[in-house]
Amino acid sequence: MLSDDDILAAVRRGLGAAGADPAAFPAHGARITRHLLVDGEIVRSVETREERTGFQPGSPDLSDRPRYDDLDGYAIPAPSDPRNPSTLLLVRRGTVDPRPCVCTNGRRQCPRCEGAGDVKCPAYVPCGGCKGRLCCLSCEGTGKPALKAADRPQGETGTRVRCRECGAEDTACGKCRGAGQKKCGVCRGSGTRPCPVCERDGTIAHEYCEGTGRYVRWTEGVVERRPVVDAFKETSSLPDRAFAWTREDDAWQHVDTLDTLDTLDADLDADPGADLGADTGLDPAVAAYLKPRLGHHDGEVGRRVRVRHLSLARVTHDDHPHRVHVVIPGPVTPRVVTVRSPRRTRQLALLALVVLVAAVTVARLLS
Ligand SMILES: [Zn+2]
Ligand SMILES: [Zn+2]
Ligand SMILES: [Zn+2]
Ligand SMILES: [Zn+2]
Ligand SMILES: [Zn+2]
Repeated sequence: MLSDDDILAAVRRGLGAAGADPAAFPAHGARITRHLLVDGEIVRSVETREERTGFQPGSPDLSDRPRYDDLDGYAIPAPSDPRNPSTLLLVRRGTVDPRPCVCTNGRRQCPRCEGAGDVKCPAYVPCGGCKGRLCCLSCEGTGKPALKAADRPQGETGTRVRCRECGAEDTACGKCRGAGQKKCGVCRGSGTRPCPVCERDGTIAHEYCEGTGRYVRWTEGVVERRPVVDAFKETSSLPDRAFAWTREDDAWQHVDTLDTLDTLDADLDADPGADLGADTGLDPAVAAYLKPRLGHHDGEVGRRVRVRHLSLARVTHDDHPHRVHVVIPGPVTPRVVTVRSPRRTRQLALLALVVLVAAVTVARLLS
């Protein structure tokens, strides 16, 4: 952290030639306050454990899955990076139960054709040319000519041909020649066609066992770990815009710690966040700031704390009440950002108001 002398020297440098003389910005009358900017995240790996029924069709090999007797007591190493979610599937010892399925070798009767392999199909279909509108003006497809031929349907323009049914000239539809219907193209007039579901087999694969004829059930233990992120960006007693005064290459202090299950337990018994101060050489002010955030969450099995922090100095002087100098530690020397004091900002706003009122008054007097 910068000393008061370093801070005043930086302000004088920032004032340029005028400030080179210590008398221009004397220590007497200067007020220095220090503020912390903290920015980072705490990522916890939070674990849940539950049992459910495992099921797989066929004869799956479960031998590579870990076995347990007591799911809560089953030890699993801490996550190497709490940011990564994971799911571990385990098998409760002695619960694997392979069985033959109720179906026949994985197949069951086709529900569409009920095992027949084919389905009904109309042998004849209506003619596409006359569409049921007088296939023959004389017999209408019956083969028995009427005494008086019917009139052509309204709007019909096509040519009529000799009827194959009754023999009358120029009376029949050109497509069906008086029959009114034609043989079905699908079944070629046979009246049946292959079942579209089982393709003539009469059986289909059983969904439950996926056609294998077998399945396995067991008690499955599921250990789920997911990251819970607590991100923050805060200052101690400075407005949020203070972050805009900083730059990436300022002297931010970086902390990155990974806590495993073991160290967490030890630390949490003693004092949450204690390791942050001790192991990482973290500034005690930062450790104190983070401490309320470091409580143990239900199911927490690991955490990663990544923080950067920067200590700024805010300098005002009785001789220059309108200015605030912010001294920011840089990579080599501190840098100074000069901003208007809140009091000066209020004064300027008030001045603007006075000018406006005056202008309005003058305008009224002149009108
Ligand atoms: Zn079928
Ligand atoms: Zn047909
Ligand atoms: Zn006819
Ligand atoms: Zn026709
Ligand atoms: Zn089955």
